[in-house]
Amino acid sequence: MEKIKMTTPLVEMDGDEMTRILWKLIKEELLLPFIDLKTEYYDLGLEYRNETDDQVTIDSANATRKYGVAVKCATITPNAARVEEYNLKEMWKSPNGTIRAMLDGTVFRAPIQVKGIEPCVKNWKKPITIARHAYGDVYKASEMKIPGPGRCELVYTAEDGSEVRELIHEFAGPGIIQGQHNLTGSIESFARSCFNYALDIHQDLWFATKDTISKKYDHTFKDIFQEIYDKEYEKRFQEAGIEYFYTLIDDAVARVMKAEGGFIWACKNYDGDVMSDMVSSACGSLAMMTSVLVSPDGTYEYEAAHGTVQRHYYKHLKGEETSTNSVATIFAWTGALRKRGELDGNKELSAFADKLEDACLSTIEAGKMTKDLALITDLKQPEVLNSQEFIKAIRVKLEQML
Ligand code: NAP
Ligand code: MG
Repeated sequence: MEKIKMTTPLVEMDGDEMTRILWKLIKEELLLPFIDLKTEYYDLGLEYRNETDDQVTIDSANATRKYGVAVKCATITPNAARVEEYNLKEMWKSPNGTIRAMLDGTVFRAPIQVKGIEPCVKNWKKPITIARHAYGDVYKASEMKIPGPGRCELVYTAEDGSEVRELIHEFAGPGIIQGQHNLTGSIESFARSCFNYALDIHQDLWFATKDTISKKYDHTFKDIFQEIYDKEYEKRFQEAGIEYFYTLIDDAVARVMKAEGGFIWACKNYDGDVMSDMVSSACGSLAMMTSVLVSPDGTYEYEAAHGTVQRHYYKHLKGEETSTNSVATIFAWTGALRKRGELDGNKELSAFADKLEDACLSTIEAGKMTKDLALITDLKQPEVLNSQEFIKAIRVKLEQML
């Protein structure tokens, strides 16, 4: 078979620990034999980030802007223990945070559903994609403990020195306060990323906040979404036969529980944090969750939703066998290859991505899987494979399909 050609490179961001091992295996077994793979390679492994004073992360984000599509391996976000372990010059920031800030993007996460691993919410037949706004609110809040009686106010001081004040509370005794903020520009980017992604994957978009109680803060989110929708997207949604729908967060939660799935649920920062954990745990495993960062101008960075699986890596280093699930990392590659194919009009490349995904799912449906899935499957007597065997089993299926 002749290898599939690519015209534009993908931005490839390598990573750390067990996922770095899987990354190499995936390329060797599932990509390089079939594709004339063109990538611009950035090593985001912690050692090289440290060596380049994290410049490599910035370079990789700039390359993503240039080419439009990236695929990223999971990376270590350093903490004190990592600074010691890797003898780091500094506690470098999270690469995901740096890339997200540079691309001004929104993260969309969706479970990979497969027969034999059923969500515990029985009526969820199709994946629910969570779009989480990644700026502000409680994550950038200022807080105070109020020791005793006194007055708390919000104060805005304009550049000309004029002030606007709003009473928070007249305290009669001790208590607590918190000040949150968000930015119009960030909410607008969030809205555009959501509308674009809905058009892209052809699914309805839901958005919900608590605007009945928060008449200025949450209501502004609702208004910005509605204005942008009316001005820029309504016609395109009608043509695509999809819907944008706003409701109260309580109503959204109730509806989600009864729904079939197959839509995008846009959430404010805190709601998205909580709801994405709910959706992923209901669907079984973090290793079966895709994640894509989409910027408002339409650049895409695909990755797995899980981390570097450190515990498995240490076993691997000791020469012990591991059974690490590579599905989410493979789907990061297929997501990126399919998008590259779409943008370049390269049908063969997109079709290959579809087939590789099918090969992963049918391998699992045939009872061959890693340990994390074997523990939760309804299939009788699943065959537990190690990290390498699982990827090789997918290759066998893929070759049959090609
Ligand atoms: P993790 O890598 O997500 O793993 C946590 C646990 O979940 C694992 O120990 C394993 O459970 C299970 N698991 C996750 N992925 C799996 C897979 N593919 N196959 C099988 N089991 C899987 O989280 P962590 O160990 O807390 O974090 C490790 C490093 O990842 C940290 O340095 C963190 O900074 C980084 N991280 C990176 C990203 C990212 O780059 N996007 C995201 C999160 C965390 P068992 O041990 O029970 O088998
Ligand atoms: Mg969380």
